[in-house]
Amino acid sequence: MASNTASKVLNFGAGPAKLPEEVLLEVQKELVHYGTTQISIMEMSHRTAEYMKLNDDAQQAVRDLLNIPKNYKILFMQGGGTGLFAAVALNLISETGTADYIVTGAWSAKAAKEAAKYGKVNLVVPKTDNYVDIPDPSTWNLDPNASYVYYCANETVHGVEFPYIPDTKGIPLVSDMSSNILSREVDVSKFGVIFAGAQKNIGPPGVTLVIVREDLLGKAATICPTVLDFTIMAKDNSIHNTPPTFSIYVMSRVFEWIRRNGGLKGMEARAIEKSHLIYDIIDNSNGFYSCPVKSAARSRMNVPFRIGGAQGNEALEKEFLNGAQKRGMLQLKGHRSVGGIRASLYNAVSLEDVKILAQYMTEFCNQHNK
Ligand SMILES: *Cc1c(COP(=O)(O)O)cnc(C)c1O
Repeated sequence: MASNTASKVLNFGAGPAKLPEEVLLEVQKELVHYGTTQISIMEMSHRTAEYMKLNDDAQQAVRDLLNIPKNYKILFMQGGGTGLFAAVALNLISETGTADYIVTGAWSAKAAKEAAKYGKVNLVVPKTDNYVDIPDPSTWNLDPNASYVYYCANETVHGVEFPYIPDTKGIPLVSDMSSNILSREVDVSKFGVIFAGAQKNIGPPGVTLVIVREDLLGKAATICPTVLDFTIMAKDNSIHNTPPTFSIYVMSRVFEWIRRNGGLKGMEARAIEKSHLIYDIIDNSNGFYSCPVKSAARSRMNVPFRIGGAQGNEALEKEFLNGAQKRGMLQLKGHRSVGGIRASLYNAVSLEDVKILAQYMTEFCNQHNK
């Protein structure tokens, strides 16, 4: 099989997820000899001028894309989203010993559980396992003494996405944007910390992007591990110890790809169009397809749905997945905790790919919904 022919499969996986094919081909081309160095980026010291330039260029590219103000540091860390659940608390919670968590799905629930190891966690909205909505802010129980308010901008498993930035009445806001970063324009100045594991929307697994407001540095708990310490990572420009150089390199190429494809405005317009295609089919299927998430909180990135009624008909869902697989549509199975189907429509998934999925959904419905 030729190694550089256009892909015949459509990857709707939730993560690690599809990367732009253009970027993969570019990486393939310079994998053995990076620039003029005669060696691979993977074989190069992180203390070389070439690597330091890559590190600075990647920071600048994401600063430009997100319009990140000067008083924010950009860090390339490790440990993934899960590592950051601990890092956020270890860096920020000791200010007052307590933090607010708005739990709207599986990932913010995990973050709250992790933070509770290091301080007191106040749950801002009532506890539930049935994540289909974002309770109205007028009902929120915010603690004026919290060190920070935490939320997950897009719940990858449950498909719940915030359509707005929570108002915290001046308390630093922390957001897990692992699965929707760079898919929409965001006013970074409203945040204390933004973080995102790369493997959903911006790169391969291994690097975690962190954006932190400078006045929040210097507050880490004394037990905070060095590699999770925002202050140390900021002081050493993310080269305190060996960074995940290859992942950062690929991510930098994805930033360039986003820039060439209309920046965040372009990504957002496409995300709206792609997700509407799928939600419209669900909503016009007379209940054959059903998405449990309330329309105002529906994710543009991850669309979970059941087939054959709200509880899902597992035999039909299996048939749907088999048929999708035969047509080259991969990784559509829902998360094991919610079942059904999940279509992830990240930046690298093209409108054409989504149209093919939509067409298949329509045909499958016409065939079975009699
Ligand atoms: C995938 C994901 C995580 C966990 O990321 P890991 O890198 O696997 O630790 C955290 N938050 C969100 C929103 C995610 O989608």
